[in-house]
Amino acid sequence: MNSIKSLIDTLYDTANLTDDQLLMILTEIKSTEDLQYLFDKAVSKKASHYKDAVYMRGLIEFTNYCKQNCNYCGIRGLNTTVDRYRLDKDMILSCCKEGYQLGYRTFVLQGGEDPYYTDARLVEIIKAIKIQHPDCAVTLSIGERSRESYVALKMAGVDRYLLRHETASKELYESLHPNMSFENRRECLYTLKALGYQVGAGFMVGLPNQTDEDLVKDLRFLKILSPEMIGIGPYIPHEHTPLKGAHGGTVEKTLILLALTRLLVPKALLPSTTAMGTLDPKGREKALKAGANVVMPNLSPTDVREKYELYKDKICTGDEAAHCRQCIEGRIKSAGFSVDMGRGDHANFKSEHSSKALFTIVE
Ligand code: SAH
Repeated sequence: MNSIKSLIDTLYDTANLTDDQLLMILTEIKSTEDLQYLFDKAVSKKASHYKDAVYMRGLIEFTNYCKQNCNYCGIRGLNTTVDRYRLDKDMILSCCKEGYQLGYRTFVLQGGEDPYYTDARLVEIIKAIKIQHPDCAVTLSIGERSRESYVALKMAGVDRYLLRHETASKELYESLHPNMSFENRRECLYTLKALGYQVGAGFMVGLPNQTDEDLVKDLRFLKILSPEMIGIGPYIPHEHTPLKGAHGGTVEKTLILLALTRLLVPKALLPSTTAMGTLDPKGREKALKAGANVVMPNLSPTDVREKYELYKDKICTGDEAAHCRQCIEGRIKSAGFSVDMGRGDHANFKSEHSSKALFTIVE
């Protein structure tokens, strides 16, 4: 057995390796045989916790206004070519209703950092969703907010929060995020965890100037934080950003990082991202076959889909929710997995856990 395979075996058995060993896999893994070995191990680890289930989440992109200016992101505030939109409470509720009828039991509300959505407005929206759909989980993904805000949102019923750390290299983070703080973003993740949210961190692969050493830092950060969800996708350039003309990440490198993440944080919920499907028509199936176990089909109204353009040529912008549901189901089955329309909580998570954690803190 070669040294790469034996490292993968150690990682499989112990859910850990040293930084140098991780770096060695990242830099040396090349042969189709070793790659397949890694992906198969990742799928087998996933199966030991989640069998062959792939969880579905209905994604609602409810605002493309953003006060931040991340250099990679198509909806950054300074991009004046974006046609900005917001969905009001009724529109969001009608997306949820349609999603519910299609079988979704998790709604992910994602948007730019839009000051219009004050705590009061969000609390009203979330409570309304929870009243209409008490059996559903609500996930928010709206960037950095204050601790008080995260408390208010948790109390209103939010179950989960996605906040990718984007990159665990301080230098790279600061070069990509004007006027944002590397420390604050991490602090937000720890706060969300302490408040009892199921937390999602994650990073992009193939950012300009990102090295394999930087990616090892991402893996180490995830191992330490051990978030319930981990979003990993290739960086894809957008022409109306300062990084236009950059190369972007590849499907293959992203698959390697997905698989390594599955083995390092075995119970994590790992989405097969739209960005993978954008780079490769079979990208999402490949991600499932490298250890991913979540997909997030779009429930946003079709007339706003194109306006939520984080990167070039984002797919599925013209498709109705029902079409997305069918299309993804077909992809999951063709990859050899089965669709799970339940809430899809993390393997360790009991729903009463979330309220208890908050209760102790608020007391
Ligand atoms: N405002 C929210 C949601 C951001 S959009 C927040 O701050 O968390 C969701 C994710 O899309 C980001 O976290 C980022 O990792 C990813 N993303 C943004 N621009 C991208 C691009 N050009 N290519 C690939 N992924 C991108």
